[in-house]
Amino acid sequence: MVLLATGGTISSRVQPAFGGATVAIDRGEQILGSLRSQPPYPVRVVDLFHEGSYLLTFGDMADICAKIADALSDPLVMGVVVTHGTDTMEETAFLADLTHDDPRPVVFTGAQRPADSAEPDGPGNLSRAIALAGSAAARERGVLLCFAGEIFPARGVRKAQTFDLHAFTNPDFGQAGFISAAGDIQMDDVLPRLDPLPLPSAGDGDDPRVDLVAAYPGADSLLLLASCGAGASGVVLQATGSGNANRVMCQAIADATAAGVVIVTSTRVQAGPVLPVYGHGGGKDLATAGAIPSGLLKPSQALVLLGLLLRLGMDREQIAQTFARHGAHPQPGSKSPRTQSIHQY
Ligand code: ASP
Repeated sequence: MVLLATGGTISSRVQPAFGGATVAIDRGEQILGSLRSQPPYPVRVVDLFHEGSYLLTFGDMADICAKIADALSDPLVMGVVVTHGTDTMEETAFLADLTHDDPRPVVFTGAQRPADSAEPDGPGNLSRAIALAGSAAARERGVLLCFAGEIFPARGVRKAQTFDLHAFTNPDFGQAGFISAAGDIQMDDVLPRLDPLPLPSAGDGDDPRVDLVAAYPGADSLLLLASCGAGASGVVLQATGSGNANRVMCQAIADATAAGVVIVTSTRVQAGPVLPVYGHGGGKDLATAGAIPSGLLKPSQALVLLGLLLRLGMDREQIAQTFARHGAHPQPGSKSPRTQSIHQY
């Protein structure tokens, strides 16, 4: 088993040198040493960095994915556990899932309470994640997130609580199962897997600019124009409701797509798909203006997918088809999940 340590609250302590702020400081060996009992498998620690996950870039997330692939290039490794900050765990876990091409489990975990708190949750989360990553039940399930006894598929997972120990939810794709403190695992139905996408290597072409712009009452096109003016190749629109903006943003989106910027419409709503229904700058007009609906993918994960596809050099049509696959609701009873066709709502 490989433990890939990247930082986050699970590795954080109050540091007088940083004005009493809590910062990621512990290395993987210290995190592993915090377990109350010996892990059931031999664990090799790989320290990548120790950062708060709110500091990560796309390049950092891609490095984590590359290190996962490195670890799995050893056939003796049974699975990988990644310790990571919770703030952007949904982004890195999703990128890892999109590019994961191995039956062996990859499990992300972290903590809501720092390592030096009176009752840290990191050790319990880590021992469950190690048990899960070594289990047959977690094979062929892509990348999983294991937190406070709950197991989630990476696709659709979201941080939903700032401090509560049950930090994550997955309103669109559901929970994958539970794991008890003793390591007993109960897994639900398998979420269909999609064909893996390649991971661009560092230095592969230009690093495209991909921005997030929000629609809200009274929003104008200023931020969208600024993003395009700064050279954005792609923009995720965090729309309202089922994927709506307004007339002025819609016109700016039509101009941007005509100029070759790829715009993806997602929504600030917690659950449910983006659908082209409304006019006067609503989702139907946005689709006519060339915006691609994200399906069920929410802004954080739509940004990751768009950033990946632009780095892979895909054109607008290929990006639209990929969003249709990855943003689709899993088809119940799908016989051939890895070649799942585009789902129509
Ligand atoms: N609250 C965060 C954590 O759980 C900070 C971060 O994302 O690094 O680690």
